Formats: sequence, structure tokens, C-alpha cells
Amino acid sequence: METFFPVVQRQPGELTVALAGNPNVGKSTVFNALTGMNQHTGNWPGKTVSTAQGRCRRGKDRFLLVDLPGTYSLLAHSAEEEAARDFVCFGGADAVIVVCDATRLERSLNLALQVIEVTDRVVVCVNLLDEARKKRLSINLNALQQELGVPVVGVSARARRGLDALLEQTARVARRETAVPAVRQPYPQPIEKALAAIQASLPPIPPGGPSVRWISVRLLCGGSEDTRRISDFCGCPPDFGPAASAAASDARAALARDGAGRQKLLDQIAACPVLWAESAAAAAVSSPGRGDALDRRLDRLFISRRTGIPVMLLLLFGVLWLTIAGANIPSQWLSARLFAVQDWLSAQFMACGAPEWLHGALVLGVYQVLAWVVSVMLPPMAIFFPLFTLLEDFGYLPRVAFNLDCCFQKACACGKQALTMCMCFGCNAVGVTGCRIIDSPRERLIAILTSSLVPCNGRFPAILTILSLFFVGAAEGPGAALLSALLLTGVIVLGVGMTFLCSRVLSKTVLRGIPSGFTLELPPYRAPQVGKVIIRSVFDRTLFVLGRAAAVAAPAGLVIWVLANVTAGGVSLLAHVSGALDPFARLLGLDGVILLAFILGFPANEIVIPIAAMAYLSTGTLADLDGLALHALLLRSGWTPVTALCTVLFSLFHWPCSTTCLTIRRETGSLRWTFLAMALPTAVGMGLCFLTASCARLLGFPV
Ligand code: GDP
Repeated sequence: METFFPVVQRQPGELTVALAGNPNVGKSTVFNALTGMNQHTGNWPGKTVSTAQGRCRRGKDRFLLVDLPGTYSLLAHSAEEEAARDFVCFGGADAVIVVCDATRLERSLNLALQVIEVTDRVVVCVNLLDEARKKRLSINLNALQQELGVPVVGVSARARRGLDALLEQTARVARRETAVPAVRQPYPQPIEKALAAIQASLPPIPPGGPSVRWISVRLLCGGSEDTRRISDFCGCPPDFGPAASAAASDARAALARDGAGRQKLLDQIAACPVLWAESAAAAAVSSPGRGDALDRRLDRLFISRRTGIPVMLLLLFGVLWLTIAGANIPSQWLSARLFAVQDWLSAQFMACGAPEWLHGALVLGVYQVLAWVVSVMLPPMAIFFPLFTLLEDFGYLPRVAFNLDCCFQKACACGKQALTMCMCFGCNAVGVTGCRIIDSPRERLIAILTSSLVPCNGRFPAILTILSLFFVGAAEGPGAALLSALLLTGVIVLGVGMTFLCSRVLSKTVLRGIPSGFTLELPPYRAPQVGKVIIRSVFDRTLFVLGRAAAVAAPAGLVIWVLANVTAGGVSLLAHVSGALDPFARLLGLDGVILLAFILGFPANEIVIPIAAMAYLSTGTLADLDGLALHALLLRSGWTPVTALCTVLFSLFHWPCSTTCLTIRRETGSLRWTFLAMALPTAVGMGLCFLTASCARLLGFPV
């Protein structure tokens, strides 16, 4: 039997605890606070698409915690919901913590009640109590415990309050020591009678499996695939044997005779936890009035028809402007320091009498490219990522999805693609994994295939450098930063527009279909935790991306130095290869060296410009890495504004980097789709570059 849920590697004496909950209720925050780990958190539903495991202890109790993907119900609709459902039902957890949002208790309780029906080893963790207090909601945890019949613990995970009590209750539940009187899900009388009949005919269910009551409900509902799966997991005969399946069909027939046909029966069963959640929440929550007036006012600004999209563009522009303006000075500072180190290194090599080729390969090859990547990439990333994460934590990303939903609908794709597209700005590979939040396989594929049409952080620096060298030019100081930000905003808007266009083309050709509906929860706005955001984005994102770039840049620097310095027939290998590529590259408004740099940059886009610069130098030395020297070098190598424009276009639209390709291969399980994901942006890029270069030639511009 295929299992989708995580396989846990429990150590002897450890208690396995599953963390379940709706998306965005703070499950990962609880998980991180308990385990000291660093799962991604963010204020939008759907970011936890895979499971994580971590360990913690309290006194003599040791826990293995499994953070499940967020789910609204156990009636699995997507692969992630299925994974969460299967782990709760069959993962053999000693206890399940269902994390609930205190500010939206009724909705969270719906899932909690479904879990309680599967297993009695449940602790309900009411998180976000601090936020509930701010909204003037008062939660009576004792009353809630009486209503649910399982222990209830109040928590503010962000402030790490209540976690000790949570672990204490969890250990008690796992050891079956709690004294909270159990309560049963109240179905209408005829259904209760039917369930009793089925329950009596069930074979013995092995310990640790789901409750017989839940199995009886599933048998009564009678989805054959579902019940077969459940009986397989329980190690029972198919459909729990002939007696149980006969009892279930008799019960269904009897209910149908009394007017409860299949659909009505399913509705009644689905309505039960909803009604119970409503009454439990009513008994536990008291509120003097609406506490979300500020949220509504903000939403009028961020998602209204008139202001939604302009404010979004303004925010994008603002983030880019801050990134560019803020990155200039540290970039220059870093560049000066790193080049001073290079001079020092060169002097040391000379002093030791090291051979020239060794100095060339290590200092002028490996070190130089590394220094460039660090000085060009680190400052903008260290500003962009925290700003992006602040917006994410604030709760703005789902509003972007809301604003762009109509555009994606027009492209016959899913509005949730806006969220995955936002993730792609950080890293295309992360965005591709994020596509799991899209339920429809057709729309998920569209999102994956178009994921690299927006620039990731590896491509921003190259695009930005070229834009500022060739198109901002004479502007100085703040004016230059504003103009660069404006141009970069334009480039991003072009990428987003191309995403819509390609999504539409795919929907009308290889991935035909109509867009499916989806519900997107708009989470409450939350004050971001500035300190934590900065630390998290610097360590999790900035240093990670930089480390990856550096790991690739060092060997690439070596390769390019060797290519530039090993000659065949008196001409360097580099000149041979770029010469061979040149005629085709010229058609695209580029040259052989740039195209070669893009090819060598396949492992990481961030090294394209450093590689091209080294190749132009071909002797392998670059006096200084600052913009002026680079600009002069590019001009000397025959670049014109048209070359610059085509290079920007090709940076924006070409094959994804190797990590993204591998991720696409893993997510789609198909080489064909991976190939298409590479071919699509490349074709767009080549087409646009060819058009631009041809028009420029026709208009008489130097190309
Ligand atoms: P998950 O989707 O359930 O894993 O949710 P996350 O752990 O990513 O949290 C969602 C959002 O709620 C994030 O912005 C968290 O910072 C925030 N959050 C989580 N727990 C608390 C809490 O106790 N208080 C407050 N104010 N915010 C919280």
C-alpha cells in the first residue's frame, strides 16, 4: 500500500506527536518553539506543504514532533491533505495536537472535532491567545474542554507562552492519564442506530488504528476507494470483511427508505462537526464587538478594485527602491575591501614564488569571481529578503493573490499561482515546490511551467547592474536609485505579464481546461516580528542563496580561467567556443561570450555577469570590480544599449537554473514537462531578443 505520510524514525521510549491544524494557525511557530528548529513561518495559508520532524523533551518525557501540512478537513482533497489525514489516522502517533486559532475558533474546531472522532488521544492547543486579547475576544478554555471532551491548552506560541503546559498535557494524553470526560459526536438518531449496527459487525481493529466509530462512519458513507484504503492500512480484509460491508449497505438502504439518500446522508454527516464546532465556540468565546475593524480598513486600501493594484505596484517599487538605494554603499565598500584582499593575495603568491598559472587559476579565477558574487549579491539580498519577509509576515501575500486572481482567471489558471509567483521572486525552486498548494494538477503544471518567467534573486543583480550601467547612466545619487527601481519594476511587470500570457497559451494548447474555483483565506494582518524576520531572512535565505552561488561561482571561476588561458592553435578555448556561438548569438542581439556565460551560468544565474566579464578580459585580470570599470569593459567589448537590453531580456527569460530544473523534475515526475519548463522561457527570451535586435537594426541602431 502506498503511503503519502512521513515515515517517522522513533527512538525507543519516545512519544510520537503529530501537529495538525488549519493552514496559518501557527503550527510551524508552535513546532519551532518546541523543537528549536527553523521551519518556514509566514502569514499566509499554504506555505507548509511538506512535513517536518523535530525532537524536544520535558522532564523525563521525550517527544518526536511531526509538523503536518495545514488542512481544513480530513476529507482529503489534495495530496497534502491526504498526507495529513493518513498520518493522523494511521501514522501511529501517541497523541495529536490540533492547533487552533483563538481568533477564528469555530473554523479551527471543525478540524479538531474530525480528529477527535478518529482518535481520543487529542490535545487541542488554542494558539494566538495574545491576538485574541487584542481583538477583545475572551476564551473560556475550561468551557471549551467540557464541550470537546479532550484537554484544551491556551498558548501564545510567538511569545512561547503556554508551551510547557501543552507538553505536559500531551504526555498525559499519550500515556492515557487524562481525566477529561469524553464526549461523542452527536449524529441524528437514525445515523447513530446505523453506526451501532456497523460497529457490531467490524472485525477487531489493531491497537493504534483509528476509532471504530470513525471507521463505521466511513463505511456508512461508503466511498469504496476510501474504505479499501482504510481497511488496508488497518491490516483488515477489504472493506472490513463481508459482514461489515453487508451491515453498511443494509444500513444505507434503511436510511434511504426513511428518506436519507446518499447525498443527504453525506450532508448530515459533514454538518455534524460544523454544528458542534459552532456550539462549542459559542460556549467558549465571548466578544464585546467586532475586533477586526482595522483589518477591514486596511483591506479597503489593499484589495479594493480602485486601489488594490496601484498600491501593489507602489509597494513593489518601494521595496526595489529601498533595495537599490540601500545596496549601493555597502556594495562599493565590500568591493573595495575584497579587492584589497585580492591584491594582498596576489602579493603573497608572488612572494612565495608560486607559478603564474597557480596564481591565475586561484586568485584571478576562483577568488575574483567569488569576490564579485559576494559584493554584488550580498547587499541587495540582505535588504530585499527582509523587506519581502516583513510583507509576508504582515499578511500581504494573500492580498496579492486576491488582486491578481482575476488576471489568472482570464489566463485560465489558478489565482493561488500569484502566491507561488511571489515565492519565485525569492527563488524559483522554492516557488516550484510551493505549487503544491494548487489542487488542480492542470493548474499546478501551468504554475510550474511558468515559474521561471519572474526573476529570482539570482537574476536581480545582473539585471540591475546592466540597467544601471546602460540606462541610468548620467543620473546621480537618489535620482539614479529611483530610475533603477522604476526600470526594475518595469522588468518585473514584464515578467508577470509574460506569466499571464504563457499561462493562457498553455491553457489553450497542451494544458486545456477551465479554471477551478478555490477558497483563499485572507489571514488577519499581524504586526511582523522585525528582529526575528531580519535574522531569519539573513540566515535562511540570504546566506543560503549566497552560499549556493559561491559554491558554484568558485568552480565556474576556475573553468572560465582555464578556458581563457588554455590555447589551441594560438587561440584560447574560450575564444573558440564563444566564436562558434557568436553568429547565432548576434541574431539575438547578444554575442558569443554572453551566450556562453548564460550556458556556464546554468548551475546558478548569479554568476553570468562575472563570467562574461572574465571572458572579455580573457587574460583573466580585472583591476577593480566597480561599475565604471565594468561599464568601460563592456563598451570596449562592443556592447551597445541594444546589447544591454537584449541581455536584460535574456536574463529575464531563459532556461531555469539547475536547482530549479531538478525541482521541476521531482515535482512533475516527468522529463517531458521538465524539458518544456526549460524550453518555454528560452523560446520566449530568444523570440523577444530576436525581435528587439531586428527592430533595432531596421531603425538603424548599432547592435
Ligand atoms: P502555520 O501555517 O500553521 O504553520 O502557521 P505559522 O506558524 O507560519 O504562523 C502563521 C502566522 O501567525 C505567522 O505570521 C506567525 O508569526 C503568526 N503567529 C503564530 N503564532 C502566533 C502567536 O502566538 N501570536 C501571534 N501574534 N502571532 C502568531
